[in-house]
Amino acid sequence: MDMRYEKYAKLLISVGINVQPGQTLVIRCPVDKAAFARMLVSEAYKAGAREVIMRWGDQFIARETYLHAADEIFDTYRPWDADMLNTLAREDAAFLSVISSDPDGMNGVDHTRMMRESRVFGPAVAEYREAQMADRIQWCIAALPEKNWAKKMFPGVPEDEAMEKLAEAIFSTMRITADNDPAEAWRRHNENFSSRTAKLNALDLKSLRYTNSLGTDLTIELPEGHYWEGGSSKSARGVVFFPNMPTEEIFTAPKRDGVNGRVVSTKPFLTGGEIIDKFAFTIENGRIVKVETDDPKHRKMLEDEISVDEGARYLGEVALVPYDSPISNMDALFYDTLFDENASCHLAFGASYPTIRGGADMTEAQRLEAGLNQSITHEDFMVGSADLNITGVTHDGREIPVFVNGNFAF
Ligand code: ZN
Ligand code: ZN
Repeated sequence: MDMRYEKYAKLLISVGINVQPGQTLVIRCPVDKAAFARMLVSEAYKAGAREVIMRWGDQFIARETYLHAADEIFDTYRPWDADMLNTLAREDAAFLSVISSDPDGMNGVDHTRMMRESRVFGPAVAEYREAQMADRIQWCIAALPEKNWAKKMFPGVPEDEAMEKLAEAIFSTMRITADNDPAEAWRRHNENFSSRTAKLNALDLKSLRYTNSLGTDLTIELPEGHYWEGGSSKSARGVVFFPNMPTEEIFTAPKRDGVNGRVVSTKPFLTGGEIIDKFAFTIENGRIVKVETDDPKHRKMLEDEISVDEGARYLGEVALVPYDSPISNMDALFYDTLFDENASCHLAFGASYPTIRGGADMTEAQRLEAGLNQSITHEDFMVGSADLNITGVTHDGREIPVFVNGNFAF
């Protein structure tokens, strides 16, 4: 196997998830990427992992389950599945997920089965999910090339060539080249986030107003005590890790009931095996009150997504990514949130990360009270465009340009 994959495995273990001596590591990986998973396991033990627990995934089998399993299984869950995740989170295990799937691989499955499943399983794994959202435990999501994904991204190119192109694209976003030290490249990359977050944190903005020619005109209030975050995170016991690789965003949480206006998506949204090219949300006092798309089927899917619980209808993330970011400049649509969210300013509906002072130690009720949205879901959607302007308003009423024509104003 080529050297880049070895470097990649090392990078994910030592920088991405940063597993510590004596710590349990849980790896989720598609079964057809077993060769890479084995490298991860070896690297993890080299780093002193206490135990590596493999959780194999397989998109084909997941699809077969959604298509053919008895209907009632989607309204129930196995307690030990939830127990496993909650227990491991309590034990301070680290969770590394490798995604590698066909963007069309779930085409034709019944989307409502997926939604019903998350409606029962989501609350059952609240302890695990909450530890992850608050970054109390280490977690990291990264990706590997997959052949149908490659063919979708590079149509009309022979499969081998498409796979190599996708691999190159992934390695470039991961800052891996044949002769560099990627850990050092990530250390430098991480420093760049701090200057921007420091500037925004010093401004302590009251709200942001988004406008562009597509019809976005949205005001987002920010909660009292919010802060901007980007790059690495730190777990409860002080371990530095990267929740997402790649990452180019800085983000904070919106004030749950302080979002008003209309926002138009700028990149496709993937759900239930469908690609929803374009949609718009109208939001009143934080609540999504209107969903617009051309296709009624897609509107129903979006409606289902924002109806899994009450919080799904409110926003939970405000993320800034320059239009001229490295991934955006590749000018490739990845059909995968992990990459596309790092090529565009985005928002998410559903749960927020507790990015307010003291937020990580608050109970769910305290967070709600502080204006942070809570939900079992969290789905990013892209709103960045070349002509997006974002104006910040301070508590004393000053207007500060944050984004001008798609890029940071400072
Ligand atoms: Zn984000
Ligand atoms: Zn997000």
